[in-house]
Amino acid sequence: MMRVTASLSLFALLAACSAAPSDPNTGSAMVTASIAGLTSGPGETQPPALDITTEPAPAAEAPVEPTPSHVAFKYLIGDVDPASDQKFARIPEKYIGGSRVWGHKDAVDAFVRMAEDAEQNGYKLKIVSAFRSFSDQKQIWEDKWTGKTLVGGKKLNKSLPDPAARAKKILEFSSMPGTSRHHWGTDFDFNSLENSYFTNNKDGRRIYDWLVNHAANYGFCQVYTSKKGEDARPTGYEEEKWHWSYAPVASWYLRQYPIDVGYGRLTGFLGSETAQQIGVIPNYVQGINPECVQ
Ligand SMILES: [Zn+2]
Repeated sequence: MMRVTASLSLFALLAACSAAPSDPNTGSAMVTASIAGLTSGPGETQPPALDITTEPAPAAEAPVEPTPSHVAFKYLIGDVDPASDQKFARIPEKYIGGSRVWGHKDAVDAFVRMAEDAEQNGYKLKIVSAFRSFSDQKQIWEDKWTGKTLVGGKKLNKSLPDPAARAKKILEFSSMPGTSRHHWGTDFDFNSLENSYFTNNKDGRRIYDWLVNHAANYGFCQVYTSKKGEDARPTGYEEEKWHWSYAPVASWYLRQYPIDVGYGRLTGFLGSETAQQIGVIPNYVQGINPECVQ
């Protein structure tokens, strides 16, 4: 799994770099070197002045990726107040389409660049959900757990008395508190929370096609892709055509997650005892589109 991920992610990174050479977040030194390395094959002639690959870079300029940094536990489980935390930024008003208005600042910056590009081409992106705290997610989860919010028209506390079965039903579309990528501020839900909007509605279909073709240029990818067909994800949430993640930051969080958040720390909500039984970390937190891992 990790070997596949590593090679996929290198390919994805190169592809993203090639597609967006002016993107400041992709690391200009690496972009230039990668493009030069890829295009200076045998038989090609290039003016010597442009062939920068012949000059080895000094060691001091070697870093080609952001320096790995430890992501504190509180950020991994959404135990933060985004309004007073420097990692977060408010989403510009014109793009807000719901009650969640905060995101990781790098993700918000990249989103704004993407949304401006989309707008110039006739597509309107709105964020209907963004950062959610642990307590926000606890509320969503427990309302479903206790039957206050109906799931598929049913009160799950009555229709599914077995805790693991009930948790799995909720997990089709909602995360357990502490396991949501929305805790990280790196993930946004665009325009509608219905897959049918992106397949049956004309505007929705156009926006989804635009995202599929352009979002990677800005570092975004669809995390919960189809669970059917050849490229099916074997585990995790059902397909969500609306949920996109800013991979350059989210990849660090995902890598840190299993190290710092064990089952012993996934507590403080109804049904938390099912987390380990279901294997919520490998099966859901890590059950994502491999192209979203860098
Ligand atoms: Zn989402």
